[in-house]
Amino acid sequence: MARIELKNIRHSYPAAKGEDQVWALEEVNQVWEDGGAYALLGPSGCGKTTLLNIISGLLTPTEGSVLFDDKNMTQVATIDRHIAQVFQFPVVYDTMTVYQNLAFPLRNRGMNHSDIEPRVKEIAEMLDLTESLYNRAAGLTADGKQKISLGRGLVRPDVNVIMFDEPLTVIDPHLKWQLRSKLKQLHQQVGTTMIYVTHDQTEALTFAETVVVMYEGRVVQVGTPVELFEEPKHTFVGHFIGSPGMNLLPCENVDRKAHCLGSALGIAEKNETQSEQFQVGVRPEFVYFDEVGIPVNLNKVDDLGRYKVAEVETHGHVIKMIVDEGEDIPGENPRICFDLDHTRLYRDGWMVETEEVMP
Ligand code: ADP
Ligand code: MG
Repeated sequence: MARIELKNIRHSYPAAKGEDQVWALEEVNQVWEDGGAYALLGPSGCGKTTLLNIISGLLTPTEGSVLFDDKNMTQVATIDRHIAQVFQFPVVYDTMTVYQNLAFPLRNRGMNHSDIEPRVKEIAEMLDLTESLYNRAAGLTADGKQKISLGRGLVRPDVNVIMFDEPLTVIDPHLKWQLRSKLKQLHQQVGTTMIYVTHDQTEALTFAETVVVMYEGRVVQVGTPVELFEEPKHTFVGHFIGSPGMNLLPCENVDRKAHCLGSALGIAEKNETQSEQFQVGVRPEFVYFDEVGIPVNLNKVDDLGRYKVAEVETHGHVIKMIVDEGEDIPGENPRICFDLDHTRLYRDGWMVETEEVMP
């Protein structure tokens, strides 16, 4: 077990002939505390797999260092890093039994037969593989095989971190939530650091205590699911997390006060600024109908059962709002207000500190 630190990591793959060098990782500084359950969340192509491969040593970063408990591991071979990596598609020996598959990583490391058996049985039990333990892996379904892959990651007692790279891609949707909660439970049982890579916010938010959000080769925010929801540090986090995502609207700085869609909002940037242009970010959960607010047109209302999503429009900008069951939607001349405790200002994508002011 170890605390893993990525220091000033940058990575670029060799550029194709005649093309400019591009950075798959722009600059990453990140600590993974020993025993943590992390999700690494971001859209396809943002650098998640590159980051995992740098931790495991499959890739050497172009710049920066990888530290395990402050020891520089940047040039250390994968095998000596003691890491388990589970990939998108199952890696299973079809001709072996489930037992042999699970025992393989232990045999490989010279563990005694008498130590292997209880360990394999324990992991098989955790993954509900006990009944098929002596069946050939070839006969299993895709999710059965992926459970073996997960098991091969979990079975080794000596690993510093277990990394899962979108492991539920091949799993049937109705089994996904089962395996996801299983993994969370397994983390609580084994206590090993886990990094779970996904582009799916539901997967990330249900698995992890700490979510690391990546965007275009950078980590843009590290936080609990609640922090990411309540205080997105970057417009990407606001937009990517939540359903629907955060509303982002143009905003002007007039006499040091934020004006949005023709109205003064009652907030300002805390520190003196020269900036004229901001964006206001407010989640659909924190926009409400109010008699004294900004006049809008009501475009449409989607009834999603427990709540409705209303779409309103003004000055050519669409704003989504979540309207709880039992809350009224005005029939004419609707006006909206923002909950100022949950209204953020962004400059160049990044949140700035705000204070409430007289509008
Ligand atoms: P993710 O796992 O988040 O989808 P990746 O780490 O696979 O992202 O990719 C990050 C960026 O690096 C992408 O632009 C991708 O095209 C590029 N990339 C990934 N692997 C290679 C490679 N072997 N050679 C060149 N470019 C690559
Ligand atoms: Mg990937």
